[in-house]
Amino acid sequence: MRNQEFNHRFKPAITLDDHRVEVVANIGKSEEAEQAVNAGAEGIGLLRTEFLFLGRETPPDEEEQYQHYSDMLESLNGLPLIIRTLDIGGDKEVSYLDLPAEDNPFLGERGIRLCLNRPELFLTQLRAIYRASKQGLVRIMLPMVTTLEELAAAKRLAEKARIEVGAEPVEIGIMVEVPSVAVMADVFAKEVDFFSVGTNDLTQYVMAIDRLHPTLAAQADSLHPSVLKMIDMVVRAADEAGIWVGVCGGLAGEPLGAVLLAGLGVHELSMVIPSVAAIKAQLRNIKIEDARKLAQQALKCSSVKQVRKLSF
Ligand code: PEP
Ligand code: MG
Repeated sequence: MRNQEFNHRFKPAITLDDHRVEVVANIGKSEEAEQAVNAGAEGIGLLRTEFLFLGRETPPDEEEQYQHYSDMLESLNGLPLIIRTLDIGGDKEVSYLDLPAEDNPFLGERGIRLCLNRPELFLTQLRAIYRASKQGLVRIMLPMVTTLEELAAAKRLAEKARIEVGAEPVEIGIMVEVPSVAVMADVFAKEVDFFSVGTNDLTQYVMAIDRLHPTLAAQADSLHPSVLKMIDMVVRAADEAGIWVGVCGGLAGEPLGAVLLAGLGVHELSMVIPSVAAIKAQLRNIKIEDARKLAQQALKCSSVKQVRKLSF
């Protein structure tokens, strides 16, 4: 990283024409919360809680999860922590859950689908999150939501957990990473407090390319116009409903991706810790008016190659 970017990492990402974009980090482990703050992140936009459940014989109990989230909130000292509920399944396997083998795990019992089938596992996590929410700014994010029925069921369980531990309500949002949600974003926007677009999975499902495929994965490029058009739809639906939109997939931490997302009207970009300072510096050096024009050009492109040729 260039020295100058690092020295200015605590300055907010305000463009030359005074438009602010929140820049936050994706993390998995407790100690990364402090690292993220030291790197200039304005909070955590995605805590992948599944890391606490992997590589062990039994699931973490409520107390262990509570401690884990509380430690992070202490490091964050008032900055927001978006806790994504368990996103197991797909490529992430957990032996003690006895998940049946599936021919297409990415299209199978994954994320919220698994949690709704195992309400005790889900409720334990939700109770730990709500208990921790008494110590800082917590938001809950649900992964892999596909239908309104799933969202309603998850919200019912969250409310049950909240009442059980006597916590105040917190914002509940969803990952937008399944095309059904992007297409129906206007309907979902009325039911949630925020959206966060997971461009890694959204690209996989829009382009029908396994994100881990040994030879095809490189073609699952989140800058493909089909993915950008979906994100544009999501932002417009969110604006209409008066809720905010973030992006926590890999695209948010790419130089061209960050500018295009800001230009599409995304409010918050969440990325790997090493990208934070550079993306903030980059956004401070552009005009949002130019980013908006670039985003409109990108939406008119017919291939990812054309999008990648755009310069800013
Ligand atoms: C995504 O799908 O873009 C995302 C951020 O979630 P994950 O990479 O953990 O599936
Ligand atoms: Mg995902």
